[in-house]
Order: sequence, then structure tokens, then C-alpha cells
Amino acid sequence: MLISPTVSPPQPMLADMNTYAAPSYLAPERLGPWAIYLEQIERVRPWLGALGELAETLIRPKRVLMVDVPIRMDDGRMAHFEGYRVHHNTARGPGKGGVRFHPGVTLPEVMALAAWMSIKNAAVNVPFGGAKGGVRVDPHALSLSELERLTRRYTSEIGFMIGPDRDIPAPDVNTNEQIMAWMMDTWSMNAGHTATGVVTGKPLALGGSLGRRDATGRGVFVTAREAARQCNIALAGSRCAIQGFGNVGYAAARLFHQHGCKLVAVQTSKGAVFNGAGIDPEKLYDHIKRSGTVSGLPGTDALSSDEFWRTDAEFLIPAALEEQITRANAGNVRAKIIVEGANGPVTPEADDILNERGVLVIPDVLANAGGVTVSYFEWVQDFSSFFWSEQEINARLDRLMTEAYAAIAAVAANRGTSLRTAAYIVACERILQARQLRGLYP
Ligand code: GLU
Repeated sequence: MLISPTVSPPQPMLADMNTYAAPSYLAPERLGPWAIYLEQIERVRPWLGALGELAETLIRPKRVLMVDVPIRMDDGRMAHFEGYRVHHNTARGPGKGGVRFHPGVTLPEVMALAAWMSIKNAAVNVPFGGAKGGVRVDPHALSLSELERLTRRYTSEIGFMIGPDRDIPAPDVNTNEQIMAWMMDTWSMNAGHTATGVVTGKPLALGGSLGRRDATGRGVFVTAREAARQCNIALAGSRCAIQGFGNVGYAAARLFHQHGCKLVAVQTSKGAVFNGAGIDPEKLYDHIKRSGTVSGLPGTDALSSDEFWRTDAEFLIPAALEEQITRANAGNVRAKIIVEGANGPVTPEADDILNERGVLVIPDVLANAGGVTVSYFEWVQDFSSFFWSEQEINARLDRLMTEAYAAIAAVAANRGTSLRTAAYIVACERILQARQLRGLYP
């Protein structure tokens, strides 16, 4: 066929192909979280003795899956989204970790989140490996039925990699009980039988667990309480500042408030507010529900992001996304204790600055492990078809997190390390011992 040289062939308009979230390979390269994880492994390696020789297994994900998730939009068009599921390590048990729906999700980010799950599950000694998944999408731009189709197609695409004894997804940023219900249903329909234990964080009516919704925030509170005890800080009359008011931030805020700690500042992606006399978490929750933002809550003053990080408070709780406290703002932090409700919110350079300044950092792999701990309880309950009371769940969670804090704090004191390095020592020893005992096959 002859093409007239004056007519140029049609150019694919890549940026126009999907107005919801462009493929990640068109976005500027972002290796941040994975590079941070590699640095954290470098820092723990000298403490691992002979097991350190096996540490290379920790910097290589076991398997990585990237899938295309095409869905029919409500207007009849087809849109494509990029999805991932990563198994980082399964030496100690099936993969376990959440699914994140966010327009900024990339493969290196999901790799880091999966690796942090391996470390977290080993640090608190729940019998899981580490996994994570995500879809590169802004879920707020989708209708409910589009969100359902996205969830079901993504679940079908990763279906062969998950299962109650293989890899058990759960909620993470922008995913919730309804999304877990759709995931459970899709996987069960494809398998031909109902398997409630394929995901955790489900609604109660589908084998969910009492206490799961608040579990991450509760774990944040328990570890903060233990750190305060260690530092001789009384909770009553203390102050906290929280970044993020999603599932984690809101639950933590309520528990701090109940124990007499004033919530003085809250930052979300849409602004920050301050009230030195304390913000009522319930009133803030209702205000956000009504107006979509923290800004304008009666009785509060607006804060810039820079001012938020400088908040004078005993506790600073980043409970949103990665890389929030960096070289740029770590020197401004005035809090005594940072509790990482989010995964990866403090960079290694910031860790060094905070350590030098005497700010205690309770690392993500310990501080936010309450969520996966109650996910473990949910999985056990689904398997045994016998369900526990909320009181029993909360008591078991409190005990497990208190003991994990004490064990990791003891390693930090004995070896003279940060809590993060201590948590990594405990976790890496468990993972590498399992690896060594299992040996190589085939
Ligand atoms: N997404 C949560 C986390 O980052 C919970 C994961 C789970 O329950 O499996 O720990």
C-alpha cells in the first residue's frame, strides 16, 4: 500500500489513551520506596552474623506480577489500568499484605510494600510471608459500579497467585471492606466454592473479624503507649499531631483522645488544621464527611505543611503515605516520639537526623502491625469457623503488640541500635533461619 508522503501516519496519543491513570512506564521513574528498603537491609546486614550471608534473598522479590486491568466505564468506553501483585518472601508462610488503589502506585513501590510486609510479619511473629498488591488508579474518579468492575477484573487477573493458603490480600490505602467482599466473591466464584479466608478485612457478615477496622490504629496507640512508658511521658495531658485521617489516623486519634492525649494538629492531602486545646476526632470526622476536607473545622486555625511538621507535641503520627519525613523537614520535628502509622513515611536520611536529635521513631514494621495481626486472627477464625468476641481480639492484639514492642526495645538497648534496626534484626533473623532450615529445592 502506498502512503502519500504528505500525510503523516496517525500518532498514538499515549497520554490520551487513559485519562484516569496513565501507565506507570510513562511517568517519571520513581524508585524511592524500594531504594529506601534496600538501604534498610544494608543497615541491618552487619548485625546478622552468619545469617547475613543469606541476606541477598531479602533484596530479591520471590515473584512479581504486572497485569492489565481493562474495564468498561459507565459511558461505554473501555479503560485500562495497571495492576500488580508481588510476593516478596514466603519462607515463613503464605504471602500476606494489602491492596492499594492510588494513582501514584508503581511496581517498585509495591515491591517495597511487599518487602515491608515480610519484615513486619516476622517482627511481630505472625506466620506469614510478605506480599502486596496495587492498582494504579484514582478510585475517587470512578463510580461505584466502575470500582466494582475494576476490583473484580484485578482479582481475576491475580487469581492464580492468591488463595487462603497461598497469599491473602487485605485493605490498604483507598481499599475497604466492600472491596474485600468483591475480591472474596470473585475469587470464590472462579474457584467454584466459597473461600472466606482468601482475603481479610472483610465485612463481618462474610467472615470478617470484630476489631479489624480499628486494629492498625489500635496497634499504633499500643506501641505509642509502651514508648511513652519507656520515656516517662504521661499520656494524660500529652499532645499528638496526625498526618492522614483515613482508617489508621482516625482510629488512632480516637484512642489517643480517650486516653487524655490532645489531638492538636491534623494534616491530610487537602490541608492542615491546629487547635492547641485539642480537636475532637468525631467532630473532625463528621466535618470531613460533610465538606470533604479538614480545612474550616470550627475552632481550628489553618496550618501550612511546614508548620504541621513543626507542631509542638509529644507524638507525631504520619499515617498516610511514604517519604513524608525526609532530609528536608526532619530537622524541624519537635515531637519526642514518631509513630509510623503509614508504611515507609521516614526516609533513612531522616532517620539519622531524628536519631541524632534524640527523637524516638517507632518503625512502621512494628507500629502499624496491628492491622495484619488482626488479619491473622481473622484468617484463623475463618479456618476454624469459630469467631471470637471483640474484647478477646483487642486483648490478644494488645498483648501481642506490647510483647513485640518489649522484645524489640530490648534488642535496641542491648545492641545500641534504633528501634528500626532492632525490628529488622529480629525479623531478618526469623526469615533467614526459616530460609536456612528449608534449604534449596529444586
Ligand atoms: N495493609 C495493611 C498493612 O500495610 C494490612 C495488611 C494485612 O492485613 O494483610 O500492614
